[in-house]
Amino acid sequence: MPRIAVIEKDKCHPDQCGNYLCIRLCPINRAGDECIVKGEDTKAKIITELCTGCGICPKKCPFDAIHIINLPEQLGKDPIHRYGLNGFHLYNLPTPLFGKVVGVLGRNGIGKSTAVKILAGAVHPNLGKDTEASSKEVIDYFKGQEAQLFFEKRKSGEIAVAFKPQAVELIPQHSTGKVCDLLTKVDENNRFDQVVQQLDLRKLLDHDITTISGGELQRVAIAATALKKANVYFFDEPTSYLDIKQRIRTSSFVQELAKDDTAVMVIEHDLIILDSMTDLVHIMFGEQACYGIASLPKSTKAGINTYLSGYIQDENMRFRDHAITFHAKLPGDIKGQGVLTSWSGIHKRLGPFTLSAPNGIIKSNEVIGVLGENGIGKTSFVKILAGVLQQDEGAVSTAVRVSYKPQYINNESEGMVLSVLKTAIEKYSPQLITPLELKHLLEKPLNTLSGGELQRVAIAECLARDADLYLLDEPSAYLDVEQRLAVSKAIRSMIQLRAASAMIVDHDLLFIDSIADRICVVDGVPAENGVVRGIFPMEEGMNMFLEGLGITFRRDIESARPRANKIGSQADRQQKSEGKLYYL
Ligand code: SF4
Ligand code: SF4
Repeated sequence: MPRIAVIEKDKCHPDQCGNYLCIRLCPINRAGDECIVKGEDTKAKIITELCTGCGICPKKCPFDAIHIINLPEQLGKDPIHRYGLNGFHLYNLPTPLFGKVVGVLGRNGIGKSTAVKILAGAVHPNLGKDTEASSKEVIDYFKGQEAQLFFEKRKSGEIAVAFKPQAVELIPQHSTGKVCDLLTKVDENNRFDQVVQQLDLRKLLDHDITTISGGELQRVAIAATALKKANVYFFDEPTSYLDIKQRIRTSSFVQELAKDDTAVMVIEHDLIILDSMTDLVHIMFGEQACYGIASLPKSTKAGINTYLSGYIQDENMRFRDHAITFHAKLPGDIKGQGVLTSWSGIHKRLGPFTLSAPNGIIKSNEVIGVLGENGIGKTSFVKILAGVLQQDEGAVSTAVRVSYKPQYINNESEGMVLSVLKTAIEKYSPQLITPLELKHLLEKPLNTLSGGELQRVAIAECLARDADLYLLDEPSAYLDVEQRLAVSKAIRSMIQLRAASAMIVDHDLLFIDSIADRICVVDGVPAENGVVRGIFPMEEGMNMFLEGLGITFRRDIESARPRANKIGSQADRQQKSEGKLYYL
């Protein structure tokens, strides 16, 4: 059975484990050979060929830094890429197909971005060796597979790629100037006006790239990628920071790019958007931070359902010990009790923006999904409920204690994760630290965390505070499907523990569907006015919200997950005529 040894170097602290505990315990070392040695970087290093897989060192390392993994028998070949002898190993690649949008679905830390960077030419694969492989070696590696043709075409210059990276918030660190100038510079196909129109960028053109919001940066980055003359486009998480309207718009935009002579590949965690945007998906599975494998492509519907089931039947591969399930909601399934707070006749002016909230109540022990576009006053409304922001008119019955997780999280602090999660560690380890997989992050400085890690820390910090109402603004951003589910459970268990309530602003409708008891609908015109329509039972709130978007949802028969109907399809027309835009 093929075996790899992975050491997570940021977890390896030889000076704190009793001076290379693993070296002292390894039976091969004890017999006089050198299976584990001190690496040049002072961390432990395992010579895989000598390791018998006895399992002692991963069990004994106090920091869980070592993983000895017996790979699935089917693999039996070198990885396409590995980050050093004991680093992450990537097997296989998803393959772009001309005329199609191909999705990549999988956990964070499983190699999706690396795979896409290899295809885009931003990372040069090494086939598991210490040096970069030649183009010929890479082509030979994929002999007989679809990817062989891709790399042959890339070598002969027939493929030109354009790539949108995941972390759009880093763009202002290396680009400056007006949006208009930046986009004009990359407009190699004379499509500037069309793309600006499709992605609704007209109002942003005169703004400096360093002053625009995350959602605006995302749309500019998508536009800049699409404007380039390429025939293979890669989009790594194109919907982070976008509201639902923008996600739907982006989904259509990306779909239109795929033509007979153009291929598109997308990494996406919003399953509803992935479902509607792609024709095929590759599942990526393995073990986070250790190794990743790309499955064969599947039709999008089958691929998503297979991913949720945790078992790839045609490859006989179980990659999760449980299935992710969704449940159709019952109309009477209401959880809240008593009244936590209520409001009436609220009116607030904030510069050119006005917010109004006629009336409504929040009960104790309920989770409210807040749906509305970006820039429509959702955060200001909660600040008024908290008494942090004073309304001009109207009343709030009781000011509640609010704990707030903002949409954008400060990642510049040099402080340790441990220091911000003190309360969570002391009081709520089973509810927060364990399920949100935070233990191994505790001794890291905040400014070294990835987007998903920072997000989980911020969620735990928010939920550990003592409050009556928890407002989490976009908690799903940068999280994979499993992590979103873990967050959903953590929120539920914390509010039950305290008989508190939570308001979740999120643009992933599947996440909202899985967590919300009721829906708060906020509409209006971004940056001009916002109206909090009230808090409604699930079906009524979803219907009200979807009416403004012109889309309908059904439940997948197999997995019960919500799926968007194709606009104009029979189901779409029928549901619209019945006024049932959302199926519980
Ligand atoms: Fe110590 Fe674990 Fe590092 Fe080995 S891998 S040196 S046991 S911290
Ligand atoms: Fe040594 Fe391998 Fe056993 Fe670890 S698993 S102690 S490296 S033989």
